[in-house]
Amino acid sequence: IRVTFTPISRRDKTTAGTIAVLQDVTEQEKLEQSRREFVANVSHELRTPLTTIKSYAEALEDGAMQERELGERFVGVIRNETERMIRLVTDLLHLSRLDSSQSAVRRQATNIQEMLEEVADRFSFQLRQKAIRATVEAEPDLPPIRLDRDQIDQVLDNLVSNAIKYTMDGGRIAIRARRPDPASVAIAVQDTGIGIPQKDLNRIFERFYRVDKARSRNMGGTGLGLSIAREIIKAHGGTVTLESEWNEGTTVTFTLPALQEGDGA
Ligand code: ADP
Repeated sequence: IRVTFTPISRRDKTTAGTIAVLQDVTEQEKLEQSRREFVANVSHELRTPLTTIKSYAEALEDGAMQERELGERFVGVIRNETERMIRLVTDLLHLSRLDSSQSAVRRQATNIQEMLEEVADRFSFQLRQKAIRATVEAEPDLPPIRLDRDQIDQVLDNLVSNAIKYTMDGGRIAIRARRPDPASVAIAVQDTGIGIPQKDLNRIFERFYRVDKARSRNMGGTGLGLSIAREIIKAHGGTVTLESEWNEGTTVTFTLPALQEGDGA
């Protein structure tokens, strides 16, 4: 709390009293604090791959290039790290557009079942690679929902790619859609993966927060997928929740309004 005192003087210059203004600056300070943390995180996240790239390039210069197999492996590492940096910068730009509300939500009526089947198709190669069985179950007679297809596809891609990343070979993923009440549709991505420990659950949507940084990095993660998903769903007027049991699996559920202005409801 910031306190400012202003004396009140009478005409004869004697003091009649003092006005004290108490200003609550905690919110402001919290914002400033989280902005500082964010910049520190971004710098760190970019520095890590850059350091790796530098040292592998040096190793190549120092002779690794002469051995064909070693050389190829090192070039592969450099390419992977570069790709991760590109993903990171793309995610950051995306987030900053969502933050400044520059990305308008361009809604079009969308068939939910078709949309979910298409997500599963997009990941069929990765699913097969890990022998994960994915099912799509949509309640019959779901109404078409007006949504920004590109943005919701991004949400679904983030959730399904997480489900694949954090599920062991041979696991299962279910993508479900239902209408919990007339005003909304709920879409859930459920996996039988490693789960999230209880203590991390309430921080998991924070930017760059990960249960296991090394694991996420190895999987090519940026730590921004869930934050982006949450921003997009918020912009659509929906909510996101996550339930998880360590070693059992995770379910992320988001809702979208089923009735929009002008629907007469
Ligand atoms: P990342 O790029 O690291 O996957 P996200 O923002 O998408 O970033 O997720 C943040 C963290 O949440 C992950 O690093 C992981 O620890 C945890 N997480 C997200 N989805 C799952 C899931 N389906 N199962 C287990 N852990 C998950």
